[in-house]
Amino acid sequence: MVPNIGTLFNTLEVSIDESFVQQLFGEEIPTQYRSWVSVAIKQGGTTIPKPVEMVDPNYLASTCECSHLLDSLKGKEKFDPVFHSETLKEVMAEIRTKKADNLEIFLEKIESSIEKKGARILDYLKEKWTGTWFAATPNNLCGTALSAVEFRNKLRDRYGMKLLDSPSHCDGCNEQLSTTHALSCKVGGLIHVRHDESRVCLGCLACAGFKPSNVRDEPQINPCHDTRRKDERGKLIEPNTGVECEINSDRGDLLVHGFWDRNTDCIIDVHIVDVN
Ligand SMILES: [Zn+2]
Repeated sequence: MVPNIGTLFNTLEVSIDESFVQQLFGEEIPTQYRSWVSVAIKQGGTTIPKPVEMVDPNYLASTCECSHLLDSLKGKEKFDPVFHSETLKEVMAEIRTKKADNLEIFLEKIESSIEKKGARILDYLKEKWTGTWFAATPNNLCGTALSAVEFRNKLRDRYGMKLLDSPSHCDGCNEQLSTTHALSCKVGGLIHVRHDESRVCLGCLACAGFKPSNVRDEPQINPCHDTRRKDERGKLIEPNTGVECEINSDRGDLLVHGFWDRNTDCIIDVHIVDVN
């Protein structure tokens, strides 16, 4: 452990910025985004650290954690393993609280330095599970292996950046193309493919979780209520949930038998929406 060596990491910091991050994103990213990228995945970042800034806090943390061990090595105290692990635990808890407080201030600073859209993205990236895909181990069996282009596009989309090499206009309706448009266009957005993909994926999970014979697609929805209770448009309203149902003509996307309870059918309807 050596104090005040932050400047020695300048070259590393420069290569991370100018080479690694650029390769990852496919181009140079705005300076304020670099700080955003450096925070933990749970906080909306990608955990690519800034070594120069981390040197001093890490030095302080490790000297405090090992203070008893260091004193005993220098012959000032007799080594007590129980006291050492207690010191470790206490210091780690203290550092965790301090880190969380600092991170909150840091995120507020980032939020004020980026434009409104970026601040909104940062807000939802901090939601639980939004970055789980980022930390998932690539596995062909689980479908978590991404190609280089997929990874880059998802990463750029995570920070609200325009996707590289994407066409300028939508091939379905000729509107100007953006991620938001691509996700909501009903003509060129391949919405049916994305809908069917989600349904197939849910079906596979249901087959694995239950039995393949418990799962069926395109099930007819048979209302279990009195069909005379329809409104003037001929629709039946489920009194508890307010869900509308077309009598004898609605179909769900997937039926899973025994999902909530034994001998009951759960009908799932998949909707593709753009959260932005
Ligand atoms: Zn379109």
